[in-house]
Amino acid sequence: MKVTGLFNKLYKLICKDTVDRNESTRLIIVIRMLTLTMIVYSFINSILFLPVSSAGGLIFFNVCLIVFLGILVMSYYQRTLATYYTLNITILVWVVINVRLFGWNIGVQHFLSVLLVFCFFARYRQEHLKIAYVLVLLVLRLYLFFYCQNNDPGMDLTETVLYRFQLLNSFAIFWSLSMLAYFFSTDTQALEGKLIEYNQQLKTQASIDPLTGLHNRRSTIEYLESLLASAERAVSICLCDIDFFKRVNDTYGHDVGDTVLQKIAEAFGNELPAGSFISRWGGEEFLLIFPDSNGDEARISLETLRQKIKAITFDGGSETFSVSLTYGLVEYDFQSNLTAILKEADEKLYLGKETGRDRIVF
Ligand code: GH3
Ligand code: MG
Ligand code: MG
Repeated sequence: MKVTGLFNKLYKLICKDTVDRNESTRLIIVIRMLTLTMIVYSFINSILFLPVSSAGGLIFFNVCLIVFLGILVMSYYQRTLATYYTLNITILVWVVINVRLFGWNIGVQHFLSVLLVFCFFARYRQEHLKIAYVLVLLVLRLYLFFYCQNNDPGMDLTETVLYRFQLLNSFAIFWSLSMLAYFFSTDTQALEGKLIEYNQQLKTQASIDPLTGLHNRRSTIEYLESLLASAERAVSICLCDIDFFKRVNDTYGHDVGDTVLQKIAEAFGNELPAGSFISRWGGEEFLLIFPDSNGDEARISLETLRQKIKAITFDGGSETFSVSLTYGLVEYDFQSNLTAILKEADEKLYLGKETGRDRIVF
């Protein structure tokens, strides 16, 4: 229990927010994790060094430990970028001293690769800085390589200590790289997830009429084009329009008019056969598509709908009222293009209006 509590406290401490609220929390967490790794690494190194009983080595590792502790403390009081640069420079200096003291074989130079990966993840918007930094790291690595070719290490290590150092370095480098990759990749995945969701929302918003929740004209045309292109069975299309709707608005107000539109949309959903495509074509006009019905079948459904809608009573404030619609119905002949079909439906609707409204013209 106690160990879990300690870990929780440590975790909270590492995740503590940045000094400036606009800075990335993820970056400061990674900086702290890497600094903590360096602290633990220096601590283990100083223990590994005890048997060597070299005062110089012990002092070096303890100084490192204090410096990295200082950077950890700094991360709670300074801007993220300041801590990031301090940590980078410190590790660079630390690598140089390590390699010069203990030689090429212990593998400390591989920490330069950790810095390279870190820079690519952390400073993701500054391409020129990244390239410059890669060059600095490369030059430094080459310098260290040639230095070691021509000079002996500052300290002689026994085979055992060398072996332990190499092992410890392998662990520390693998841990640091995986930690960086883990934190930054989970962040990218979360961001990608959010974007997909947001895109989906945008797509829905772009295809739905906000007042009625029906498909809008844009998505209806898209649907119709693909439906007609692959139609194998009968398809019927009906353009309908509320009768004397202007009068509703003028008498009861625009808000009541909106409610009428919503209630009629609801009635379409309730009364039309499953699979029907219902859309608000514009204003008080609707386009109803029956993807699996011939004209006669669609007419039967529309007749029920016509009566149901007429039976709805709307609250107009001082009185109640009802509305009717006129319907222009066509059956797809497997030849005409979309424009021609819509024109035909519109003509039938017009004919219905001319001949008394509240009727289905087929
Ligand atoms: P008709 O029987 O010939 O179709 O007559 P109408 O009054 O329905 O036709 P008209 O084209 O003269 O008027 C349509 C009205 O529909 C006018 C417009 O203000 C109203 N309208 C269009 N969209 C909306 C809307 O979103 N909300 C409300 N409240 N009214 C709308
Ligand atoms: Mg109209
Ligand atoms: Mg109308």
